[in-house]
Amino acid sequence: MTVYNGVGVYAGRVIGEVLQMPEPIKEPKPGLKLAEGETAESAAERIQFAAEAVKANLLERAENASRDGKAVLKSTSQMATDRALLKGAKKLVESQNMAPERAIWEAASDFAAQMEALGGYMAERVTDIHDVRARIVAELTGQQAPGIPVHDKPFILAAVDLAPADTATLNPEEVIALITSDGGPQAHTAILARGLGLPAIVAAKGVTEIENGTRVYIDSNEGIIDTEPSVEQEEAAHKYANRQPLPEFDGKGMLADGFEVPLYANVGDGKSAEKAAGLKAEGVGLLRTEFGFLGNDTEPSVETQAETYKSVFDAFPGQHIVVRTLDAGADKPLPFLNVKEEENPALGVRGFRTDWTVPGVLARQLQAIKQASDGSDADIWVMAPMISTTSEARTFKNMLDEVGLKTHGVMVETPAAVVNSEAILGEVDFVSIGTNDLTQYTMAADRLLGDLAHLNNPWQPAVLKMIKLTVEGAQRASETHGTKKYVSVCGEAAADPALAVVLVGLGVDTLSMNAGAIAAVSAVLKSVTREQAQEIAQLVLAEISSAEAKATARKHLPILDELGL
Ligand code: PEP
Ligand code: MG
Repeated sequence: MTVYNGVGVYAGRVIGEVLQMPEPIKEPKPGLKLAEGETAESAAERIQFAAEAVKANLLERAENASRDGKAVLKSTSQMATDRALLKGAKKLVESQNMAPERAIWEAASDFAAQMEALGGYMAERVTDIHDVRARIVAELTGQQAPGIPVHDKPFILAAVDLAPADTATLNPEEVIALITSDGGPQAHTAILARGLGLPAIVAAKGVTEIENGTRVYIDSNEGIIDTEPSVEQEEAAHKYANRQPLPEFDGKGMLADGFEVPLYANVGDGKSAEKAAGLKAEGVGLLRTEFGFLGNDTEPSVETQAETYKSVFDAFPGQHIVVRTLDAGADKPLPFLNVKEEENPALGVRGFRTDWTVPGVLARQLQAIKQASDGSDADIWVMAPMISTTSEARTFKNMLDEVGLKTHGVMVETPAAVVNSEAILGEVDFVSIGTNDLTQYTMAADRLLGDLAHLNNPWQPAVLKMIKLTVEGAQRASETHGTKKYVSVCGEAAADPALAVVLVGLGVDTLSMNAGAIAAVSAVLKSVTREQAQEIAQLVLAEISSAEAKATARKHLPILDELGL
């Protein structure tokens, strides 16, 4: 029997067969020629057959995929038999006796480069081309197709980590749980798992060695993966499978005593905002503006930006929206803002700091936000990421004043901002705590590093104390200035239903999260009064480890077990 341990990111108890994410397809050797005995004609025919098989397979998967996945798969399937692509590959076979797998690789790479040069919508097809390139090579060479495997029954997916492109097609009816050897609880895969409500364990060393088809038990609350499920574990999984269904969010976050805790969504563009509105989010607590421009080499024009922001505002007429200015750098570089190579990009020129090295972009972004807000009746608040001094907060406020944006805020992501929260809130109206970065900077642990996942955990007592200090600073600033200074949490911590109770108990006013997590957070918040939340927060604060802090909170929240959370 082998037991693997990792960090649970979305609770659940399931038993199922493990399927490993296949290795990425490698580039066939340059100069690879036709095999002996194979004619150019038959090789060209094989390319055609392989492309058609890939197309058929993608279409078949599209049938069973979720709504978003269906669109992705259908568009990729069209690319598989693109005439220009196949013609290019066949020509290479015929004119240079190139092996078919090498020919399709080269033709697709050329095709992708052309699309990239065209920019705009065409450039967005590059990912599709790379995907079909790998699939056709796999088909031609008898390798397992890349991407999420297909199985005749629901399975547990094991991987080193998942790429964003893989996650688009992940269907929770096929994949019942996720286990990864790398990644951290605040990294991409974890965010996705929470959004889908999928039991997941990250940073579980060794899980990529589990044989395909092995039946395992996973308890993603405890972070345990067991390759020989016991009778008790079978029962626990059975109980989980028959849990009470999660009630849908009714559009109003509140505690059992009616105390209101608005629940907002974290979004990146108009599409995700519409989805969040469909799930009845009460507004947007974090618009990650950089997400809309991650593929851009150059700064988008004020008009383009204004259009993008407007599409988000339009999804929430009359509601609360917090726009965060571009947070470029570290794991989210934008070529037009992050111009220098850095040894330590997480400690480098990122977030608000890019205004020092590439001045002008921020001012133009503020103009775009103003332009979009003028045409909207949403209540627009604007904040800056990665603030570490009070004077940065003041500079930012002055910049907003200049363009006429009225409600100013900053993110609390550095310990420096925490200890200065009172002074910072003397300058601006609100703060939003980015627990992902605040955890990484408090614990001095890179948020992307699986090896440090245990430190990179917002349940760490030091992080909880940082949140408490921020709230206390805000309370003092509210008294001094005679006006309420709001504290929100928009990091992944807000999406953890047990931690959400602790945050509210610590005095956080509003929570913002991946829209998919709102229903679970709301259901658990509804099970406690404000006084109970405060008591739980006090007990949790007294613990000396993240595991004990979490266990103490869970002990006082029986609803978690009832709902299988
Ligand atoms: C955070 O750091 O918690 C946050 C919300 O910002 P991001 O995850 O975009 O860095
Ligand atoms: Mg951050």
